[in-house]
Amino acid sequence: MEGRERPIRVTRSSMPPFGEYTEMIRELWDSHWLTNMGDLHQRLEGELASYLHAPRLSLFVNGHMALETAIGALDLTGEVITTPFTFASTTHAIVRNGLTPVFCDIRPDDYTLDPDKLEALITPRTSAILPVHVYGNLCRTDQIDEIARAHGLKVIYDAAHAFGEELEGRGVASFGDASMFSFHATKVFNTIEGGAVAYKDPELAHLIDGLKNFGIMDEENVALVGGNGKMNEFQAAMGLCNLRYVEQEIGKREQIAARYRMRLNGVEGICLCAEEKNVKRNYAYMPVVFDGFKKDREQVFRELTEQDIHPRKYFYPCVNAYQCYRGRFDPADTPIAQRISMGVLTLPMYADLPLETVDEICDIILG
Ligand SMILES: *Cc1c(COP(=O)(O)O)cnc(C)c1O
Repeated sequence: MEGRERPIRVTRSSMPPFGEYTEMIRELWDSHWLTNMGDLHQRLEGELASYLHAPRLSLFVNGHMALETAIGALDLTGEVITTPFTFASTTHAIVRNGLTPVFCDIRPDDYTLDPDKLEALITPRTSAILPVHVYGNLCRTDQIDEIARAHGLKVIYDAAHAFGEELEGRGVASFGDASMFSFHATKVFNTIEGGAVAYKDPELAHLIDGLKNFGIMDEENVALVGGNGKMNEFQAAMGLCNLRYVEQEIGKREQIAARYRMRLNGVEGICLCAEEKNVKRNYAYMPVVFDGFKKDREQVFRELTEQDIHPRKYFYPCVNAYQCYRGRFDPADTPIAQRISMGVLTLPMYADLPLETVDEICDIILG
């Protein structure tokens, strides 16, 4: 056991050099301005809008509030078509806005919402589509946007996994009407907790910025029934520091992903996601699907856990099988999502994960 780092978790939060962070927050002791769209908030908003090629961007206290607020700002009604193969937040944001999620199955190769199954789910009550760039695999945005246009539907992307990605030089933030990003501690880029909405229509600015601050427009005018979604200055400081290193970190992640692929690609019963050539990726996750492999997912999970290595069953169960939604949906309606969720493990992936540890993990899986 000597010399081996343990435990190995699925991820490890990126942190800037300590001194850089303290330097960044020093000015807060002069200004005593800790939140409510301060200087650091404004700086980070500008830097991120530019890094993400976002036409407009609004920072939030976390990704979930960003998504909930974006849905609210688009004034949707009735049904929203979405994917069951995602994190709880995506669906909860729909339901907490008083809307009904309708689950569309996923593509078997990249696990994103399958646009070929979309039109059959559209009803007169449908108002929007909420697809997820799951694991940073970009959705079929052209096809989705075309269907949305034909039916007059809004499109909001859950881009929590797709920070900084580009399709043929176009930033992910430019797809659909709006995109939500998460800057949670476990994501490729973090502000401890945090998130943002990128959006196109300039008319939405007062709604999105208003709804995240109780609908307060000025000292004497509260125009919207808003909540509190504001990012504070300590979060923004973390973001400004981490943003300096994010490209370097993605570069390291790429090496790790390549090592996993070298070891696991082509092994019978192990499926790795299809990798599009025209996408600048962020290597946020390393999902592996065991389907017809000599060991099932549970056995691989157990063997790794016994060695104090902790992959995650992301995403199992599917959202339409959650206890809180029991009786409302049938997971059998989305059989591909159900099957992938039974076989998937996301393996440890973070910038400083040693390649020797990747080899160890692969040895255990293949052994
Ligand atoms: C992390 C995540 C969210 C929520 O973001 P938070 O910043 O944790 O609130 C939403 N959707 C997906 C797919 C996520 O992975």
